[in-house]
Amino acid sequence: MQLNILVTGGAGYIGSVVTAELLKAGHRVTVFDNLSHGHENAVPEQARLVVGDLAQREKLNELLAASRFDAVMHFAAFIEAGESMVAPERFFRNNTANTLNLLQAMLEHGVKKLVFSSTAALYGDPKRVPIEEDDALDPTNAYGESKLLVERMLSWFHRIHVLRYASLRYFNAAGATLERGEAHHPETHLIPLVLQAAAGDRESISIFGNDYPTDDGTCVRDYIHIFDLAAAHILALEALQERDRLIYNLGNGNGYSVREVIEVARTVTQRPIKVVEAARRAGDPAVLVASSEKIKRELGWIPRYPRLKEIIGSAWHWKQKNPQGYAAAKNLQASND
Ligand code: UDP
Repeated sequence: MQLNILVTGGAGYIGSVVTAELLKAGHRVTVFDNLSHGHENAVPEQARLVVGDLAQREKLNELLAASRFDAVMHFAAFIEAGESMVAPERFFRNNTANTLNLLQAMLEHGVKKLVFSSTAALYGDPKRVPIEEDDALDPTNAYGESKLLVERMLSWFHRIHVLRYASLRYFNAAGATLERGEAHHPETHLIPLVLQAAAGDRESISIFGNDYPTDDGTCVRDYIHIFDLAAAHILALEALQERDRLIYNLGNGNGYSVREVIEVARTVTQRPIKVVEAARRAGDPAVLVASSEKIKRELGWIPRYPRLKEIIGSAWHWKQKNPQGYAAAKNLQASND
């Protein structure tokens, strides 16, 4: 069945890849993005792009009044955990309050299904790994808190307004498809920064903290390929036709330390990567590793690229093809106009 989907943040890293997969699956997509961090060129051609901000309630209401959406996929948010410990107000405004705008607009216009981009940051410093969905939620950074507040709102909207929703708690999204990759400005994520160091775009990579209680003293994370992440969204959307409240972790169940990531990147790129030991980044939990058994069991999700080597390999391939990220494509487009 063809669905009409609104994708907020569809010009961003994860939103644009999911948009491409939705289109491939035969759905219609409208992307709503303020382009503050996203890239117009990342939005697939067959999608309609509406440039707007979730703070603009009028605009949102007009859009929902004019189009009959079957569901919303909500990616638009600030994502830098470190920055959230400097300016938490930006995160509560954009991630929490603006999501309430979206939910109210959905309610007003009878849109009853939502797939929400949640995060492993909800768990804070976990008591055990791998983390399961009903483990304690206790964020160590304001980014995680801003998303936890949304999950709590969703649960009340479900109870009171019969909103159906899937909350997908991403561990560390990484890698690229052939067409789309990670290009944040400024970039704060480990893998793209390590690859910048490999490419010579930056002098070195800083390791934020080497005294964590892990085997080599650096933080351990669970990296998940962007394609597998996108596939989980399509499954969740389909499942919402039958079911009403889905909460899933999305990771591979394998933890890699910062040093291990750098080592794998050296192997993949065959380039030297200079390392600088730096201070801890505020709000970073030592270890975040997912159990994704629930989504495997319930929706039959099977990650296609679980190995870190493949994940980093795909990111490196995309970077070599697009050394300027999305900027080069933009220039090309401009010169064709
Ligand atoms: N990290 C690092 N150096 C960097 C960027 C990140 O050591 O330049 C570490 C960071 O402290 C964390 C891990 O790499 O332990 C993954 O960070 P990232 O920002 O990619 O994702 P997060 O886990 O914060 O969502």
